[in-house]
Amino acid sequence: MSRVLLRNARTLSGEQVDVRIIDGVIDEVAAAGSLSAQDAPESSGQTHDLSGFLVLPSLVEPHTHLDKTLTIDRAPNPAGDLDGAIEAWLRERALLTEEDVYRRAQTTLVRALGNGVTVLRTHVDTAADTDLAAVRALLQLRREYHGVMDVQVIAGHGLPASGPDALPHTKMLLDALELGVDGIGGAPSLDENPSAALDRLAAIASDARLPLDLHVDETTDPEVFVLPQLIDLADRFDHRVTVGHIVSLAAQREQVQRDVSRRLAAAGITVVTLPQSNLYLQGRPGAGAAARGAGAGPARGLTALDALAEAGVTVAAGADNIADPFNPMGRADPLETASLLVTAGHRPVESALGAVTDAARRAVDSPIVALAPGSDADLLAVRADDLTDLVGRAPQERIVYRRGRVVSRTQVSRWVTPNPGDAPTNAAPTSRTLSTIGNER
Ligand SMILES: [Zn+2]
Repeated sequence: MSRVLLRNARTLSGEQVDVRIIDGVIDEVAAAGSLSAQDAPESSGQTHDLSGFLVLPSLVEPHTHLDKTLTIDRAPNPAGDLDGAIEAWLRERALLTEEDVYRRAQTTLVRALGNGVTVLRTHVDTAADTDLAAVRALLQLRREYHGVMDVQVIAGHGLPASGPDALPHTKMLLDALELGVDGIGGAPSLDENPSAALDRLAAIASDARLPLDLHVDETTDPEVFVLPQLIDLADRFDHRVTVGHIVSLAAQREQVQRDVSRRLAAAGITVVTLPQSNLYLQGRPGAGAAARGAGAGPARGLTALDALAEAGVTVAAGADNIADPFNPMGRADPLETASLLVTAGHRPVESALGAVTDAARRAVDSPIVALAPGSDADLLAVRADDLTDLVGRAPQERIVYRRGRVVSRTQVSRWVTPNPGDAPTNAAPTSRTLSTIGNER
């Protein structure tokens, strides 16, 4: 039996607590100092002093693209919009090798792990012009990191996904299913015939008994609005339906936003908003002109977050692209995503953090983690004062626990003086990142 005692940790509600973990599961949470050292038996127990740290459930990345990550240097997108990104990516995609995808994806995965992510869902392209090298690379990472992170791989259908031209793409997607992916993706709103594409994707997912996770309405143009058709289809579909982006919902009239949000809630569809890529790609001069006439607000590249929240829809938030033609920025840190939901999405801080913890777990069908007895001890400790400090400053000093075991620890040392002449020679500011897993650089 393995026992771990976390002492003097602060919770998000401000209490100081001790947390006892037995065999990877939280056994007891009690006022700091009330669980004595004897509660962690000398033989197999460990005690971690978390004074100065906030402790919370580990973070979740519900939507990213590890096959594309870290390609911005070789696949620039001068136009900066979605069409430019797709064009740059299709040229790059033809050149991918399994080793290259593995190396880039591992770098971003390890960064995410160090930031506190223990559940990560990545999309991956499958299309007639791919040889599934990226799928194999991501499945290898899923296997290798199984003990520290739940990686889910969603295979996206190539375009088009309707009509006879879809068949070679469908064949490649079916080959990816044979390799053991976790769900079916695609972008039906970019299809010539979105409803036929939706039907095909749902039929494939239904046959495979896998969830659907689709990119939908990634535009500020209100004329592109496939979401209502997806809701109709979800009523006939037995598995989880998750929908990413739905940017054009925010360009509809407020009454439409409310009605569609209520239908989403009733259908149990989970939404993932992707603030960073969409704020980058959407609402550029010219591109948002159509949205300005009909929309309830300015074209911002974010979905109708208030209407969705009011209707009780589960809204998660993801990084989407990290340093690729779709978004040159990104730290693989869900706290960055949460911060954007506050500054750009005007959501309360608590709800923004929920979008990368509880709501994100629901979006990817992962068990909820709580700081309470019976929960898996997948925890994140951050040297922060409180909720606002946590999301606003996103301190780097973090300890990541997976089933009660430390799987990553980042330590930062900073030295500051108002009198440069006084600096001792050995006090040059240093910043060290120690990662116990992988090859973080
Ligand atoms: Zn995406």
